[in-house]
Amino acid sequence: MSEDDTLFSKIARGDIPAEIAYQDELVTAFRDIHPQAPVHLLVIPNKPIPTANDVGPEDEPTLGRMFTVAARLAASEGISADGFRLILNCGEHGGQEVFHLHLHLVGGRPLGPMLARV
Ligand code: AMP
Repeated sequence: MSEDDTLFSKIARGDIPAEIAYQDELVTAFRDIHPQAPVHLLVIPNKPIPTANDVGPEDEPTLGRMFTVAARLAASEGISADGFRLILNCGEHGGQEVFHLHLHLVGGRPLGPMLARV
């Protein structure tokens, strides 16, 4: 699988179906296939950056766009006022499953503590 052939690259290109909520020249947002809350969207860079370890200064416009798009989607989903959570998992300890950077936008219910209490 080439770097451009991640699962999420295929979704961004339209090669794999997904419920696309937003797309522009830098980012794509679509609904998570296994939603953890009433609203669960993923915002990805169109460029297949594997993990948060791999971002560089050249990615700053794209990373900024991911946040402005997440905020805009939170508004359009009606969860801005009550609040929501943005999650970005990195690597094995972060529980990352898909190695194409993605920001989870999760909300629509109280989400509880950020991490399980141990
Ligand atoms: P992470 O554990 O942070 O890597 O999250 C990967 C997320 O991708 C999970 O929440 C999955 O439910 C989601 N996911 C995996 N495959 C698809 C797909 N084909 N369409 C939409 N979401 C997906």
